[in-house]
Amino acid sequence: MAAAQHLAADVLVIGSGGAGMYAAIEAARKGRSVILADRSLIGRGGATVMAQMTVAVALDEGGLDHPEHHYADTLAAGRGLCDQAIARLLCEEGPARIREMDAWGAGWARESGDYKRAFAPGHDRARCVYVDFLNTGPAVSKTLRAQLNRIPEIRRVGDLLVTSLALSEGECVGAGALHLSSGQPVSIAAGATVLATGGLTRMYRRSSASANMMGDGYALALGAGAELTDMEFVQFFPIGHLAPRLVGMDPIMWDPFRYKLGGRLLNGRREEFIHRYGSKDEGRYVAMRDVATYAIVKEAAAGRGSPHGGVWLSFEHCSEAELRAAGGPVIDRLAANGIDLTRQAIEVAPIAHYHMGGVRVDATMATRVPGLYAAGEAVGGANGANRLSGNAITEALVFGRVAGESAAAHAARRPARAGAEVLKSEAKQLREGRGASDFNPAAMLEELQGVMQDDVGPFRTQAGLERALGWLRSLRAELPALKPAAGKAYDTALADWLDLDTMTRVGECVAAAALARTESRGAHQREDFPSMDPQWSFNQTISLEGGALRIESSAVPA
Ligand SMILES: Cc1cc2nc3c(=O)[nH]c(=O)nc-3n(C[C@H](O)[C@H](O)[C@H](O)COP(=O)(O)OP(=O)(O)OC[C@H]3O[C@@H](n4cnc5c(N)ncnc54)[C@H](O)[C@@H]3O)c2cc1C
Repeated sequence: MAAAQHLAADVLVIGSGGAGMYAAIEAARKGRSVILADRSLIGRGGATVMAQMTVAVALDEGGLDHPEHHYADTLAAGRGLCDQAIARLLCEEGPARIREMDAWGAGWARESGDYKRAFAPGHDRARCVYVDFLNTGPAVSKTLRAQLNRIPEIRRVGDLLVTSLALSEGECVGAGALHLSSGQPVSIAAGATVLATGGLTRMYRRSSASANMMGDGYALALGAGAELTDMEFVQFFPIGHLAPRLVGMDPIMWDPFRYKLGGRLLNGRREEFIHRYGSKDEGRYVAMRDVATYAIVKEAAAGRGSPHGGVWLSFEHCSEAELRAAGGPVIDRLAANGIDLTRQAIEVAPIAHYHMGGVRVDATMATRVPGLYAAGEAVGGANGANRLSGNAITEALVFGRVAGESAAAHAARRPARAGAEVLKSEAKQLREGRGASDFNPAAMLEELQGVMQDDVGPFRTQAGLERALGWLRSLRAELPALKPAAGKAYDTALADWLDLDTMTRVGECVAAAALARTESRGAHQREDFPSMDPQWSFNQTISLEGGALRIESSAVPA
């Protein structure tokens, strides 16, 4: 794509992870033209391609499982806050999506002709299908990319950072964007728009995120008049790699080892400790993510941590043959990093991994703004206060398909009609930068990650949350004067500034919701309110009113 452009399609899908690709495929299957836009390469930018192993789905072959069991486990993990309609949708439609992916050649692992299924914490039975150790996400992405390639009605536009949604008479009619490699603004007219921009965990100093996961969809939705829900619930993955140094491997790679071998979590004195925090894990892998995160952080804070401030994860009791059977070629990659699991434990500690909150939608994935839909991790509510392993890929596929269907139906009634003027004015604001030579947006981004980690991380206090809010709001107020001048190709300073603009807004949502929730529940833990309070059994929704956040409590949708 060269200079400034105006594009149009029936359906615009923003983000091409699992949710966005499925939405695009479904909208095209329903006969609509689609633009699938991504700030990165199509199908390679967000979390989906990085996912490791588990895809939770109640396949009922042989009467082994039923979506009702999956649903019950999802609600229990969500600590009373799951939006039941969309949690039910996730569990009930999951099997159809997994089978469709199978027909498209995903290559789910099989055993005696049936799907192989792994246990994961919080599920009452082995429920997680997978492709291979560390390879499920790449296989899911590849399968969906191959489907996209077969559908000419889907125009794929990479390198396109969507920066605003366009509204006409209260309806979403498309988006404004920056084409990163040319530096030119782009406007896109669409009959319906799907936000499939993934989560926000890149806002944290220690995270499993790719470069593109800063919560863009939440800021875009909020700016267009949609509501957000459950923004305080950021899931920390308990056993993120901490030490020794590991090059070329994912920090959450220990999960598949634990599914297969259990492994032992030990404190700095080499004692098992999770039982002290009300759960069991001894040698197996049963503690849910919120409980394990809590136990690890507390154990280290009590002075019983490992040398780098986490805890030990040990497979030393396993033979090399067992490790090889579980890890295959990964054992050689570990050896290249100087790690021999038969002789040494590794250090792990929680890292930001997933966001339970997000855009508030109904079971058709519609927001309250006509013409605007959301899908995947961008959606809040399905997992309440804590997500089960494996639910996120299923949610991406299921919600993606439903959002694509709903957007196609809306676009059939309301074809792309926005005048180029509405959209060009959206895109024009990208050119409004004045430039500030001494401002380094990349350095400021790192500072923001530190603020989020330290004050809005796994443990929160009123003082810390207020400090973070103050910092975020004062930076946000300064940002307009610090905007770099636009128009250059590959302008990383402008992209970083745009990310800061998003992250100050989204960080404010997380911190404000966390400050308001004066209890501890699931992934939201307050040092000053350490217990779960039944009076807090409701969701918090956030909207914008006159440029300021408005937080309201709302009954958990049945
Ligand atoms: C390392 C890792 C391992 C994981 N392992 C598992 C697992 O084993 N099982 C499981 O269930 N879940 C797992 N998860 C979670 C799961 O992968 C995600 O929740 C899920 O893939 C999200 O899919 P998505 O399509 O909603 O978003 P993503 O796959 O994150 O895609 C979002 C896309 O939106 C694009 N985008 C963002 N902002 C913009 C913008 N402004 N303009 C244009 N494009 C934009 C991004 O570039 C990206 O391509 C894992 C996550 C990580 C990070």
